[in-house]
Amino acid sequence: MRINDAADDFFLLLISLSLAACRPNATLVPTIVPSQTPTAAPEEIHTTTVIPTDSDVEHLEPGAQIWSLGGNGWALEINGRLLVFDYVGRGESVPPVSGEVRNLEIGAINTDELQAFDLYVFVTHSHQDHFDPVIFEWQQQVENIEYFFGWGVGDNPEHHYMIGPRADAQLDGMEVYTINSHHSDVPEVAYLVKVDGVTIYHNGDYLASYLEDFEYLHTFTDHIDIAFVIGWPFVDHQHFQHAMRLSELFDPTCMFSIHREGDEDKSRQFAELLAEHGVEATVYYAENRGEDFICPIDAVE
Ligand SMILES: [Zn+2]
Ligand SMILES: [Zn+2]
Repeated sequence: MRINDAADDFFLLLISLSLAACRPNATLVPTIVPSQTPTAAPEEIHTTTVIPTDSDVEHLEPGAQIWSLGGNGWALEINGRLLVFDYVGRGESVPPVSGEVRNLEIGAINTDELQAFDLYVFVTHSHQDHFDPVIFEWQQQVENIEYFFGWGVGDNPEHHYMIGPRADAQLDGMEVYTINSHHSDVPEVAYLVKVDGVTIYHNGDYLASYLEDFEYLHTFTDHIDIAFVIGWPFVDHQHFQHAMRLSELFDPTCMFSIHREGDEDKSRQFAELLAEHGVEATVYYAENRGEDFICPIDAVE
């Protein structure tokens, strides 16, 4: 855990770095709650409030610590496991700023640090703001590593290609389910992951028949602890309707607004709109790479 003094320069860097590839096909951008660090249990948070993380907050048991890895990339630590979604290294400061150590605290991947975990790497699709082939290098140095891809990016029998439609996988007590989408000429998935009593949803750029697909996911769980959704602050846009339907069906505890390209206003508007529509989840967004959060876990299923 750490104190997060929002570094404006990091923020600008993030913005300039994340202007890549696939954007949700709408013109306006959503906003979220100004993220900041780990939060204590969102005590009855009325909606969309981003909670500034604070270093005084202790790890909650059970709980998940979550780091922004820039862009759409996120890392989650749960019981000695590290789950990494849609990591792209292009926003990292390489080499780090003078004297700075590469680690999760700055939103950077250091394989020495990864070795301490059972590592699970998830990639939704091949667009450059979600997929960076550098992740393949990690398996050279990390002993316990598993890969999940939303398309057939290779033929390594040790990797999990969740081509589907609606693929699933079980390993190490973890359950992984996918729903499928297709945009800008590439196939992709959204992930539902159940691990150690924590249920996670990562949307990627999924945009498809969500009513049917969410009902399908609902057959595996009626609650999502941590949901990464596209923070689109337009009620009529399907991305917003995704978030609404997800909230109705799964009552998410912590919702992260992704794909905001550094536009906090849009994330904030997104959070406010959700609140206006009765969603009680706490909505977070990262302003800086390396920003970290703690999501309390309601109960072990
Ligand atoms: Zn994208
Ligand atoms: Zn995309």
